Amino acid sequence: MKTRLYLTDPESSARMRRIRQKRTAAELELGQLLRDIGIRGRQNVRSLPGSPDFANISKRWAIFTHGCFWHHHRGCSKATLPKQNRSFWKKKFAANRLRDSRKAAALRRLGFRVLTVWECELRRPNVRKRITRFARSL
Ligand SMILES: [Zn+2]
Repeated sequence: MKTRLYLTDPESSARMRRIRQKRTAAELELGQLLRDIGIRGRQNVRSLPGSPDFANISKRWAIFTHGCFWHHHRGCSKATLPKQNRSFWKKKFAANRLRDSRKAAALRRLGFRVLTVWECELRRPNVRKRITRFARSL
């Protein structure tokens, strides 16, 4: 099966490892950003559906940060499709995006407002405004 071949391919495993590390870096960066802005939330809130990266339960908001490659950020230059095993990756990205939207929908059903901050947005000046507006609005 293609999937199995892919998973044992060392080059692809290295790629997946890099993605995971990047994702962690994005989470750290977002955490720092929230502290800088003065927005209080808990990290990796496992008591909520989808374990949001940051959330404030009493204020009913949740923030996810997504790696652009892994979560296939539409229109983003980082959301490339690897040349090898294209159908595997297409399925993988579609599954990731579906999972992301289900998580957000589950939270919204509980009355949460949900924000997604993409990895590529983290260093843009606008991101602070966007997060501040989101976390302070009712
Ligand atoms: Zn992006």
